[in-house]
Amino acid sequence: MAISTDFSVAISGAGLSGLCLAQYLTRAGIDVHVYERDPGPFVRRQGYRIILDRHGLAALRESLPRPLYRLALTTGDEPGGHLRFTDRRLRDAFTITFKDEPHATRQVDRLTLRSILLSGLDARIHYGKAAVAVEDGGPAGLRLRFADGGTATATVVVGADGVGSALRAQIMPDAEPANTPMAGVYGRSPLHGDVIPDALRTSGVLALADRPGRAFFFTSMRFGESPREAFARLAPGSYAPTGGDYVMWGLLLRQEEVPVSARGDLLALRDLAALGSADFHPLIRRLVDTAELDATVLNLFAAGRRPGRWAVPRATMMGDAVHVMPPFGAHGGNTALRDAALLGQRLADARATGAPVEEAIAGYQDEMVRYAFGAVDRAAGLMRRLTGSAPAPHWVLTRLLPRLHPVTVPEA
Ligand SMILES: Cc1cc2nc3c(=O)[nH]c(=O)nc-3n(C[C@H](O)[C@H](O)[C@H](O)COP(=O)(O)OP(=O)(O)OC[C@H]3O[C@@H](n4cnc5c(N)ncnc54)[C@H](O)[C@@H]3O)c2cc1C
Repeated sequence: MAISTDFSVAISGAGLSGLCLAQYLTRAGIDVHVYERDPGPFVRRQGYRIILDRHGLAALRESLPRPLYRLALTTGDEPGGHLRFTDRRLRDAFTITFKDEPHATRQVDRLTLRSILLSGLDARIHYGKAAVAVEDGGPAGLRLRFADGGTATATVVVGADGVGSALRAQIMPDAEPANTPMAGVYGRSPLHGDVIPDALRTSGVLALADRPGRAFFFTSMRFGESPREAFARLAPGSYAPTGGDYVMWGLLLRQEEVPVSARGDLLALRDLAALGSADFHPLIRRLVDTAELDATVLNLFAAGRRPGRWAVPRATMMGDAVHVMPPFGAHGGNTALRDAALLGQRLADARATGAPVEEAIAGYQDEMVRYAFGAVDRAAGLMRRLTGSAPAPHWVLTRLLPRLHPVTVPEA
């Protein structure tokens, strides 16, 4: 293939990383198109909230036009807060406190973030385009093939098509993710009145059950500025999602406890969450009872494997497609955004200096594999420590430490 300083990029997948990269490249003046399998931008609820850490925030700051970055901050929850580890009755074992500086860790609503990432990209996103393969396209570069028979040609192809990636087997043939023993049934419940007591107002909580392999997570998402008003001011014309504050929760359990027949059945999943949380604090049981049924989601936790080789020159991958990780530590989305900003920067530098695009991609891959698989290892390690069956840590977390703390939320 001829080396050219003027190149185009095709991204498969309009999720967090694909859209973030498209924003970066658009700002850098690089021709980019995104091909998304879903038939439209908001056909799925796209999860609930996401915790943005310093890497995720830095990636957004580098990729987005200034008003869109401000929109992410102003619609997000207040920075800072706590993550509490408790027993099933919400007695504290220990607490992590996040800094509350202006650019510190905060929660943002995922649908709102997606709307922000989509802003200004309308003509560059093509829906109903499920990528199935990437091929050599001759002198023009690579050809991305879609399930509908269509194709798109670009110099560089980026697989950002999430955990179930259709392109992974071709681009990283030895890196199929490994299954883990754990799963989560997630839900969302309206946040009003005294659903969450003041003592937990700014806390995410991971409540561990008496037996290993079972826990319940919940956290409140309170919008800072209302998305409708903030979008009108900072991104007029972009779609502003509506909806009030909510609590996102998840029952964590072993995959073997999720019957195969329940896996696509929202009612059965919510019943499973109710059953699995029956002996937790009444606050937790109320959250499950008041959940919005259509927001119920099952996630089978997996862990990405380090790619040994990249098999298609000028094709690379980002985000969960490479390094899916169990959701312990809230690194998955942040790492995906970090990939996008890093790859964007490497490609923009290559264009500015005339360096070969292959070198830019190789540099991105080396750096990404280092930090991303560090994050995968940390998330998998945390999952093992918190939900594994080693008796000593479980006893310390659920029996010893909670006895040393006063009751935070009385069982009314
Ligand atoms: C319940 C839950 C809570 C989480 N909370 C956090 C958190 O607090 N912080 C955090 O950092 N991370 C969190 N994560 C992880 C985070 O959501 C993911 O790591 C992140 O979404 C990965 O981004 P991505 O761009 O790789 O993939 P995605 O955002 O999953 O996007 C992939 C896109 O590709 C599309 N697609 C799929 N197949 C194809 C195809 N063949 N062709 C074209 N398009 C295709 C999909 O429709 C989708 O739009 C959480 C995950 C879960 C399940």
